[in-house]
Amino acid sequence: MKNIIFIAPPATGKSTQSKMLVEKYHYNHISTSNLLRKEVSDNTPLANDIKKMIDAGNLVSDEIVTKLLEVELKKISGPFVLDGYPRNIIQAKNLELILKKNNLNINYIIYIDIKLDEAIKRVKGRLICPQCNKVYNTHNNIMKPKHDNICDICLIKLIVRPDDNEEAYKKRYNIFVNEIKPLLEYYNEKGVLSVIEDSLYPDETFNKIEKIIL
Ligand code: AMP
Repeated sequence: MKNIIFIAPPATGKSTQSKMLVEKYHYNHISTSNLLRKEVSDNTPLANDIKKMIDAGNLVSDEIVTKLLEVELKKISGPFVLDGYPRNIIQAKNLELILKKNNLNINYIIYIDIKLDEAIKRVKGRLICPQCNKVYNTHNNIMKPKHDNICDICLIKLIVRPDDNEEAYKKRYNIFVNEIKPLLEYYNEKGVLSVIEDSLYPDETFNKIEKIIL
């Protein structure tokens, strides 16, 4: 099995797809968003700065995210899916250095595309388990929790992310589009980029991903 990067506008479902890879193929899932949120919930010295940036829909500094990622990559063994990193060319180059240092490589870079109005609908329905990070969506029947507002697995109350409001989302989406264009060109020129269109149904998107990686 080979290492994968998912690049996608926020709320496209890259975490859901990553979890499907974990469940079916035992991938390690490295989400920079989750690493950052863990710093916040553990109340580390970086917690306040990170929380402010995330809640406002801004990107956290390249230095902080890259450091957290490097530590995480050292902890895992086996194939991994990287979700949320790189977000810009600086991060892509940092990643190349870290991979080289640790004798690792990336085999697939998959861009999952989505239209802005569909993404906004999703963001408005998104609920997350604060314990296992499973993502639910009240906007999509097959992604609703079995019981309103309760995680199917942990049986605890689901939360709405503070940055999942229309204003912060539009900001995140615009930052994403501006930063990601050059990144996609960078990977396209290297001939390592696959592009798929996101489907409303996670299984359909997953089938498209499997066609690329298997
Ligand atoms: P996501 O769930 O991937 O949309 O990420 C949520 C938030 O976490 C982003 O809006 C950023 O504030 C922060 N974040 C996650 N990954 C990165 C990254 N690679 N670089 C900078 N900030 C990040």
